[in-house]
Amino acid sequence: MNAPENRYWSAVVRGLSPYVPGEQPKLANLVKLNTNENPYGPSPRALDALRGEVGDGLRLYPDPNAERLKGAIAAFFGGVSPREVFVGNGSDEVLAHVFLGLLRHDRPLLFPDITYSFYPVYCGLYGIAHETVPLAEDFSIRASDYLRSNGGIIFANPNAPTGRALALGDLERIVAGNPDSVVVVDEAYVDFGGQSAVPLVARHPNLLVVQTLSKSRSLAGLRVGFAIGQPHLIEGLERVKNSFNSYPLGRMALAGAVAAMEDREWFDRTRQAVIRSRTTLVAALEGIGFQVIPSAANFVFARHPGRDAGELARALRERSIIVRHFQLPRIDQYLRITVGTDEQCGVLTDALRDLLR
Ligand SMILES: *Cc1c(COP(=O)(O)O)cnc(C)c1O
Repeated sequence: MNAPENRYWSAVVRGLSPYVPGEQPKLANLVKLNTNENPYGPSPRALDALRGEVGDGLRLYPDPNAERLKGAIAAFFGGVSPREVFVGNGSDEVLAHVFLGLLRHDRPLLFPDITYSFYPVYCGLYGIAHETVPLAEDFSIRASDYLRSNGGIIFANPNAPTGRALALGDLERIVAGNPDSVVVVDEAYVDFGGQSAVPLVARHPNLLVVQTLSKSRSLAGLRVGFAIGQPHLIEGLERVKNSFNSYPLGRMALAGAVAAMEDREWFDRTRQAVIRSRTTLVAALEGIGFQVIPSAANFVFARHPGRDAGELARALRERSIIVRHFQLPRIDQYLRITVGTDEQCGVLTDALRDLLR
């Protein structure tokens, strides 16, 4: 880390440890099951809306307040007002503003030892003190572990990369037990089998729910995420956003996202297809000796008692099948496998069956 150009970096930049996204290989014909993308395309209505936005209008700035999109998101949930919605350029950007605006306090932020690995990165960027809370042996979140002094709490539900969901009753115990801190629930995967905490927002002034259009609405390439919370939380986020970038969502993203939120039928059809394929995939993996953590997400987290996970990931890659393997404590014997189409899942399980022979 002593390359000559480093002398031009600020002390902040020198101290960063950036997030490393799952790789996006440029090769064709890969079975790409490593970054939890949706195997089905976006809503055809969203694609039409995107095409409709291409034109002279792009010379104009987009609506900085994204009013139509906030309206569409509020309408999707019902019982939510547009004033309770914040939108950003992917939920990663929403989360960045959440960390700076709502989670940076004197007391440490709490999150599970195994969760979305971007959380510690934001802590590093913003200098946020944090403590990790070990998941139980079965990778579940124990609500009682979060009933202690803290400056904020964040976890993903369903959790990543385990896929395990926390029941809404346990989640509400955490929220109700921490009235002086903001509790952030990252619901990137909730549409594949979790229970959303959005209906709890009305009775908890300290609850913020974050979602994304990247997974269940198959728009990872468009970069749209949102948060739902009571207006005082949203206003805090708007203050950060308007001190950072007034126009985080372009006209294309706004148009596509509105149409995607309105197309409930496509949303339901495709997520049900993913859920069905997950059931088939889990059965096939168990059939060849894998232990699979119960998943409410569009991926499964699985280990084989007889084979090293890193070795399996490398062997799959030689067959052009990419899954995610984390070289991290407690989980280095697991593979995180995105639920693809039945055909992709079949290619994967055939290859694993062959490798395990
Ligand atoms: C994918 C993911 C995100 C980020 O989603 P984007 O909206 O694409 O930025 C956030 N949290 C978790 C847990 C995720 O898996």
